[in-house]
Amino acid sequence: MIKTKDKVTFPAGVHPQENKHFTEDCPIEQFPTPKTLSILLGQHIGAPCKPLVAKRDKVVAGQVIGDADAFVSAPVHAPVDGTVKDIALASHPVLGRAMAITIETDAEFANHKQPCPEKFDKDFNATKWSEGDIRDAIRQGGIIGMGGAGFPTRVKLEPNPQTPKEIMIINGCECEPFITCDYRLMLEWSYQIVAGIKLACRAAECYDVKIGIEDNKPEAIKAMAAAIEACSGTEKMEVVPVRTKYPQGGEKQLIKAIWKKDVPVGGIPPMIGVVVLNVATCAAIAEAVACANPLTHRAVTVSGSSIAKPGNFYVPIGTAVGDLVEHCGGMNDKTAKVIMGGPMMGFAIADMSTPLTKTSGAITLLTKEEITRAKYDRRQTPCIRCGRCLDVCPAHINPTKIAHAVKHDLLDVAEQYHMAACFECGCCSYICPANIELTGYIKTGKILVARAKKRMPQ
Ligand code: SF4
Ligand code: SF4
Repeated sequence: MIKTKDKVTFPAGVHPQENKHFTEDCPIEQFPTPKTLSILLGQHIGAPCKPLVAKRDKVVAGQVIGDADAFVSAPVHAPVDGTVKDIALASHPVLGRAMAITIETDAEFANHKQPCPEKFDKDFNATKWSEGDIRDAIRQGGIIGMGGAGFPTRVKLEPNPQTPKEIMIINGCECEPFITCDYRLMLEWSYQIVAGIKLACRAAECYDVKIGIEDNKPEAIKAMAAAIEACSGTEKMEVVPVRTKYPQGGEKQLIKAIWKKDVPVGGIPPMIGVVVLNVATCAAIAEAVACANPLTHRAVTVSGSSIAKPGNFYVPIGTAVGDLVEHCGGMNDKTAKVIMGGPMMGFAIADMSTPLTKTSGAITLLTKEEITRAKYDRRQTPCIRCGRCLDVCPAHINPTKIAHAVKHDLLDVAEQYHMAACFECGCCSYICPANIELTGYIKTGKILVARAKKRMPQ
């Protein structure tokens, strides 16, 4: 048996309270389709989509309703049958406001999409599809990285003769506190995930696969190991238990832990011959290729002690946060914060009509007491130069110097301190004994720089 301290990991990081107990035993349930859905036209890295429908158009489930010509982009689809009610600005979890297509769903849902893990078993044959057909189906299915960043998967998998992909790392870490939807997918949809991995191997022309799962999920490790053993093929697949530590699920941290290599600052994994896919993305690839089902639904965790019925749900993309919370029995008056995502990297939601995107794996409700070490009750004090934020930063940058520069509007200085290398994991804010919101300053600094360079709307 491997001892915890011998398990592979990355330098730095923190150990926040896991809080998985609220939902880890909740199987994924079908979520009833709400009356309206708002499909944001920009939910991925790259060019946002342009609408391909007009107000009052009838749409059917799976229909492409927005797309862009750019290579780095992904189309969006109608999750169910309905009528386009509006094409207008809607609340966006990251950008504040962005264009969205609002669909009024039909009263009787002939095309209400159900999950279909039973369609995948040990005999799944990925060689039925050519490499090119798989890549096309992934593009047409609007598949993007569902673990957070939302990079279009078709682009990620593109073979590059100059830097062939040597290894594919599958991310089953789910290191954010509270979130368990990927854990449930690994338990309930393990064959579908393996089918998606096999298809991704063909698309990327890379057959050496390591599935990284944190050692606080022994049941998932067992389920995925059993599935890859049953589905043996030409791929070389292996489950690698990694040490439970936040942010072990960060792409660069997982590569460092498993492959011992560093992705250059500002670079992406394919530049060093590695491709990283999240387990939910693999499941979506399987559905897009084998069932021609585009990415219109995803598993979402709704969790926290102030919600009546926490759980995991299979939800149409575009569902409002408020509809999900209401379905879970509503929140009580102890709720102090509603977060899209987890408490470390998620975005606080002020507008309950904010729609879920393809990357929204969770809604987390926190009480005042649960908010990181009760920071509401603690005053921010001056930096005591303890250096803890430097010790825990997985990007190995200097959070306090960057935050200080942003605070004093010295954005060029912040950039010299490699502000762009920060991937907003929140470890520095979490550990700071002076309660300085270092990540908040850095996020603000990055937005200001992007605006100055006219990469973002004012
Ligand atoms: S500076 Fe960025 S990457 Fe480093 S700990 Fe803080 S949030 Fe994480
Ligand atoms: S952890 Fe907080 S108090 Fe310590 S050096 Fe960093 S900013 Fe200063």
